[in-house]
Amino acid sequence: MTTIKLHNTRTRGKEVLNPINPDDVRLYLCGPTVYDRAHLGNARPVVVFDVLYRLLRHVYGTDHVTYARNFTDVDDKINATALARKEAGAPGTLEELVQERTEETISWYLADMAELGALEPDHMPRATAYIPQMIAMIEELIAKGHAYADGAGHVLFSVKSYKDYGALSGRSVDDMIAGARVEVANNKRDPMDFVLWKPSTDELPGWDSPWGRGRPGWHIECSAMSHELFGDSFDIHGGGNDLMFPHHENEIAQSCCAHPEGDFAKIWLHNEMLQVEGKKMSKSLGNFFTVRDLLDQGYPGEVIRLVFLQTHYRKPMDWTDKKAKEAEATLRRWRALTTGINPAPTASVAVIDALSDDLNTAGALAELHKLASAETAADLLTSARLLGLLTDKMGTWSQGEDHDLSHHEKSLFDARQVAIETKDFAEVDRLKTALIAAGVEVRMSKTGVELVPGPSFDASKLDAI
Ligand code: AMP
Ligand code: ZN
Repeated sequence: MTTIKLHNTRTRGKEVLNPINPDDVRLYLCGPTVYDRAHLGNARPVVVFDVLYRLLRHVYGTDHVTYARNFTDVDDKINATALARKEAGAPGTLEELVQERTEETISWYLADMAELGALEPDHMPRATAYIPQMIAMIEELIAKGHAYADGAGHVLFSVKSYKDYGALSGRSVDDMIAGARVEVANNKRDPMDFVLWKPSTDELPGWDSPWGRGRPGWHIECSAMSHELFGDSFDIHGGGNDLMFPHHENEIAQSCCAHPEGDFAKIWLHNEMLQVEGKKMSKSLGNFFTVRDLLDQGYPGEVIRLVFLQTHYRKPMDWTDKKAKEAEATLRRWRALTTGINPAPTASVAVIDALSDDLNTAGALAELHKLASAETAADLLTSARLLGLLTDKMGTWSQGEDHDLSHHEKSLFDARQVAIETKDFAEVDRLKTALIAAGVEVRMSKTGVELVPGPSFDASKLDAI
């Protein structure tokens, strides 16, 4: 069987994946807080984990991998959007408006991630459906001396009660206090203590609990949901490296204290951040955009996916327009090469080996380029599909529908009509040369002009015509 090696944040090295149960390899990814559309950075962990999920299914069998990715559907930011709608005169209670917002955001998220070729996880738990499990876990933590209620509706986790706190990121508690904006509050016994449960108002979402009507803290959600779905120990837990501290440290503290007999997650996988044209993506820099923004601008999801796969998940990734153009040209070539071809029965060993070496997607793509150069189209197709590329579902963009060339067809036809009269074909030649330079095949007959985008088609070159 193929050996998969993954970099474990916890041990800071590559480890061989030895599943707890090879008949059911289990992975959990922290999903989005559903208050707004996913930005491009949010898509990175989704694509990284999708590649891992596909590789695991390939190695262990489709029915022997279980992937869970949650939705955080209770949060201040969600409440804020509902409040804003209410103030703008929207009908319904605040709770209804919160639900409306989470429902629409979840459906956007699923549609956008599907465009990037991400398979849907087997479980997509919503935090609000697991409140009893969260309450039970908090009670367990209190009973074991790891958490305390402040008498005013809050329950806090006592960080000092867990000696391994900080082991994931390898920092001491003092360093973490110095480096993070730790909220000092007078209900905390220690500044590092974090909230497991907090009070809610009557209008906002809240649930009855031993500590009064309230709602869970963010960290306890993932601990409770992963435990409910996977039990005390499972194989892989992931997320962006911005979640390492405090979110993942806190998840570990909660889960290991509530269920000390288990290991919680054995391997911790973290992706690096995405940047845009060399800069951090931020609203103030004006380079912040959502996945949907890019799709609406005409970037096919498959092109976005290929750009992502070019950078190893543990390196910062830069989204640039130039990379997108190059990825589009590559995919057009590969799609032209594999049209009408039956896929080979198995993916190339070199591609599987690259992916098995800590998800070396760049290495896997280099192998795909070799297969394309050798024109071994059937192998290219199967191996590309292992990476979620060249699938039937994702291919419609390359069939030309997205590029309406009828306007250029008309210009060329009209120019030719004029030229037949004037005997001056300079304009016809200019148009033809420009179209060919943009990778368009020009077919002219007596009755009309037909323009067909070829494998090296580059729509941006049409702008100059
Ligand atoms: P959030 O909804 O903010 O909790 O984020 C959802 C996921 O997106 C988390 O796994 C984050 O680590 C990840 N994420 C957020 N921003 C970026 C970014 N710029 N690059 C890569 N991943 C990100
Ligand atoms: Zn989480």
